Amino acid sequence: MNRTALIADRRYLDHFAGRVHPERPERVVAMIEMAERLQRPDLKLYAPRAASLAELELCHRDDYIAAIAHTATLERANFDPDTHTSAATFATATLAAGGVLTAVEAVLAGEAHNAFAIVRPPGHHALANRAMGFCFFNNVAIAAAALIANHGLRRVLILDWDVHHGNGTQELFYASPQVLYMSLHQYPFYPGTGLFEEVGAGAGAGYTVNVPMPASFGDDEYLRAFDSLLMPIARQFKPEFVLISSGFDCHFRDPLGGMRVTEHGFLAMARRMKRLAAESCGGRLVAALEGGYDLRALADSGREVIEELGRADDEPIAPAENGVRVIPVIERAQYFHDEFWRFS
Ligand SMILES: [Zn+2]
Repeated sequence: MNRTALIADRRYLDHFAGRVHPERPERVVAMIEMAERLQRPDLKLYAPRAASLAELELCHRDDYIAAIAHTATLERANFDPDTHTSAATFATATLAAGGVLTAVEAVLAGEAHNAFAIVRPPGHHALANRAMGFCFFNNVAIAAAALIANHGLRRVLILDWDVHHGNGTQELFYASPQVLYMSLHQYPFYPGTGLFEEVGAGAGAGYTVNVPMPASFGDDEYLRAFDSLLMPIARQFKPEFVLISSGFDCHFRDPLGGMRVTEHGFLAMARRMKRLAAESCGGRLVAALEGGYDLRALADSGREVIEELGRADDEPIAPAENGVRVIPVIERAQYFHDEFWRFS
């Protein structure tokens, strides 16, 4: 059995993006109420701390942080057609970044084997100097940067299974060989990035792996991409810490995404990442909520992932044998990564 830290806080309800906005406070309520029903004695609840200015500056420009901080004096500000602040947004976003840091610190300290951070607003679209796609501060990227800058780690893996490409995370580490960013996402789709040929630049060439997939792919296709593409690369990378940008908007119920992943698919993906973490870094893994806009899909998927994090690391993994539709996608990704990684 693993001991799992759960970061949750009703202060994550405070950010208000607008009436009839999919990224709404009820998302966190659904996740917290699900967690309360788990009755897992090994689940250790943590209140998040806020990220410091210095931590935000690991990924964001100081003038951009000041611009978001300024919105605390405004009833509302619009950063793009979908990304709006309320007076509580800066505090909530700072607490979201800090929530992932709280999770990372609990795992680094050995208080928990792994952790799940129920945070909002999400982060993976946030750029160094720009809010977009419901995101203000890049929560997972800040955690990765802190692991490297403040904790001395050299190799951090970010696996992003949100239905959208994490353009912010990709751009922040595009030239870095210390962060391996791997994303499975619907394509073509918002935000329009995440093509096969985006593999990183300079010393970071090979350390960005994109798996753009047409709508309607589900568990079989995702798991086959893990087994044939993502797991071989991740094993060669040997991460010292595993972070998951855990958006649940590739679930078949999601109103924004067009994918067909089920809660069982999330369980199977989490099991693979947990196995990887066990092999390469003593199981150190933190998953953080990104998107996911159907409340039942959030609760069902979150439950399966959090339950899986608590299980032993040697649970059997059935290799993915179906999902042949994804084979051309895998082959194309392998083609662009052939000079960086081995596939056998
Ligand atoms: Zn998303």
